[in-house]
Amino acid sequence: MAAAWQDVVRDAAAVREAAAVAVDAALLAGGLMRTGEQPNASDVVNFAPFTLLPSAVPQALFEQAYAVQQDFNLLVDAVSQNKEFLEQTLASTIKADDFTARLFRIYMQVLEEGLAQTVFLGINRSDYMFDCGLDGTAALRQIEINTIAASFGGLTSRTADVHRLVLKVLGKTEEASRLLPNSPAKGLALGIAKAWELYGSQKAVVMFLVEEVQRNIFDQRCVENELWNRNIRVVRKRFRDVFEQGSLDASRRLYVDGQEVAVVYYREGYMPHIYNQQSWEARLLLERSRAVKCPDIATQLAGTKKVQQELSRLGTLEKLLPGQPEAIARIRATFAGLYSLDEGEEGDRIAATAIADPNRFVLKPQREGGGNNLYGEELREVLEKIKDSPERTSYILMDKIKPQPAPNYLLRAHSPLQVSECISELGIFGVYVRQGQKLVLNRAAGHLLRTKAIEHADGGVAAGVAVLDTPYLV
Ligand code: ADP
Ligand code: MG
Repeated sequence: MAAAWQDVVRDAAAVREAAAVAVDAALLAGGLMRTGEQPNASDVVNFAPFTLLPSAVPQALFEQAYAVQQDFNLLVDAVSQNKEFLEQTLASTIKADDFTARLFRIYMQVLEEGLAQTVFLGINRSDYMFDCGLDGTAALRQIEINTIAASFGGLTSRTADVHRLVLKVLGKTEEASRLLPNSPAKGLALGIAKAWELYGSQKAVVMFLVEEVQRNIFDQRCVENELWNRNIRVVRKRFRDVFEQGSLDASRRLYVDGQEVAVVYYREGYMPHIYNQQSWEARLLLERSRAVKCPDIATQLAGTKKVQQELSRLGTLEKLLPGQPEAIARIRATFAGLYSLDEGEEGDRIAATAIADPNRFVLKPQREGGGNNLYGEELREVLEKIKDSPERTSYILMDKIKPQPAPNYLLRAHSPLQVSECISELGIFGVYVRQGQKLVLNRAAGHLLRTKAIEHADGGVAAGVAVLDTPYLV
């Protein structure tokens, strides 16, 4: 992709002035994060990291990503309701990966008991990179779809205003007027409110299930405040609170600290290390309840890397979305090469190919939250070690996407102002609500652009690698 701001990137004085304006504008707009030193205090905060300049994104690919989001919502929802598919797809994984196995056990347990939940709410974010072909044209390639705790739908809405101002300071008023408004938090809140309404109890609350360490609280507050604007009560609880204060009544209504809970919105629960015996018990209690879980455990499983890999297998989408060839074509057009490492000839062959040419691939375990994937020499070493062991099946392989870098400045607290070669990842938020078998809401709810320096292979904003950005459509 052509760098959009060649002239300003080289003008050190203009960049310094714009950066000072940008940081203050971000603070004023509420683009905030708690600090690493005091991650649970709101009296010392700083700006959430962001790019000085909006990054160029090809308009056609941006539109393609929006156009396929409702299809991805349907697909995730279909996978979450397909026990046979989940069982078959995850059969090898749960033998090798204890975390997925524990989630799967809860899934089976709640199915055996019979679901009390009748309203379903999905909030996901489908992430893409722009793969640069040999002829220089870029293609939209899905990195993954996040079906639990997809974040930054709140803070990202602040970034476009900041970039609009920065471009004006740099004398680019016309370009500033072209930045799109974007407000995923409103869309997420709309979905949560719809689920709350269908649950049908005026006095019930929406419970945000939050982490022990809550650095990214302001992002969540954006969604919370949208709910309060609709006169819906919001409470924030941790797994530990649910363990201590949670219970079900005879019809499996969920009560936490005396309040009935209509919707449980997980912003926690996707990393193995946060689970102890108490949190597993709390998780089971929530899943057994009538409350609308966002996501329910089936939908969390639908977001595993193993499911993503199996979806790319020829014929799978046709089984999951029968009679919807157009949706299938739109979905498949975004897939990168994905490969199973299950035991057997297919897995042996691709493992050998990746060992011979590791820079073509990314090796992914069943984990979320950044920093878990393996690249290059490390990929080769690990794969060499596990290639003949059952551990291999806890991973999948994916083609490595190679976007065209562009120069930008990554603004971070306590960091020097310096130009970096950067690549971006576009996320589209999806929201849907289903009551029984009837889909009552299905839409794209906004976008998130995250940008990082090319020297980092992995990691998002919360991991301290990527920063918030705004697409500048070209
Ligand atoms: P996580 O669930 O940990 O977020 P992802 O699959 O999103 O896992 O990978 C984390 C990061 O690694 C992505 O944000 C992206 O920067 C990088 N990444 C993942 N897959 C690829 C790929 N196929 N090609 C290039 N980079 C990738
Ligand atoms: Mg990711």
